[in-house]
Amino acid sequence: MGEAPPQDPGGSGRGKGREPFVPAKRSLGQNFLVDPNLQRRIVEEAGIEPGDTVLEIGPGRGALTGGLAELAGSLVLVELDRGLAARLQEQFADAAHVRVVQDDILRRPLAEVVDDPSSLIVVGNIPYNVTTPILFHLLEPPRPRVILLMVQREVADRILAPPGSRAYGALSIGVRAVADVEVVLQVPRSVFRPRPRVDSAVIRIEPFVPPVLEPGEERALRDLTRALFQWRRKQLGRILRDHPDLGLDPEEQDALLAVAGADRTDRPETLAPEAFRAMARWLARGPR
Ligand code: SAM
Repeated sequence: MGEAPPQDPGGSGRGKGREPFVPAKRSLGQNFLVDPNLQRRIVEEAGIEPGDTVLEIGPGRGALTGGLAELAGSLVLVELDRGLAARLQEQFADAAHVRVVQDDILRRPLAEVVDDPSSLIVVGNIPYNVTTPILFHLLEPPRPRVILLMVQREVADRILAPPGSRAYGALSIGVRAVADVEVVLQVPRSVFRPRPRVDSAVIRIEPFVPPVLEPGEERALRDLTRALFQWRRKQLGRILRDHPDLGLDPEEQDALLAVAGADRTDRPETLAPEAFRAMARWLARGPR
């Protein structure tokens, strides 16, 4: 994402005589949330019940962390920045239910971080430049119970775009084929330091329980979505016939269109997530 040059982050920095000022690292997407009201509302939106295990991704200077630590039965913080992780370690040294992991969340399968990912609540104001990889990483089964993420408003729009719109695509399907999604807060750029060039939104993702697709069907969904949206301007009939990754004979092409309720002349972006799920189930049943 584009950001303004680093400034004094506010909160715990320069001028208070407590800690040395450390500039925000642009390479790590550090835009710190400095509005206490929004910090509180985000924590509330996580819907944490006593005893819940919570994972915070990129806790940074702890804008959400104190509130999460108050409510969670157990809180794991995964922060890539060594300096910030050390600071959090010190800050929560006396809190036995808080654990700091200094690492890249993308290198940590959830099952390595917590005992039971399926009951986990994930919260994160995450770096915008890795939003999509983090999102797909979190949606790898076994999935958390709830994922509450701050994302660029444009990313929220893409995830929630209706079929047939320009923003609708692989991201919309990848998320909505496996989970319910809603925007719970609109967040202006003015509440961050440094201030980013774009507005944000907090989205709440609730993976379907039980999962609506088997692992083989999920793989088929990924491959199909990738192939169809690589050629999103072409008609379905042509893609199913010619795309090298699909390898379908004419009968199979017709059968696939039938399960999707689609015509040869339709384009991929007109198919709803349910149609993609139906096609993935059919493909995973092979060999036909
Ligand atoms: N949660 C804090 C807040 O709301 O003010 C910080 C948010 S800042 C947008 C993103 C945070 O994620 C930074 O602290 C950054 O160091 C951390 N981070 C960046 N890449 C990461 C990664 N791959 N894994 C874990 N943390 C990461």
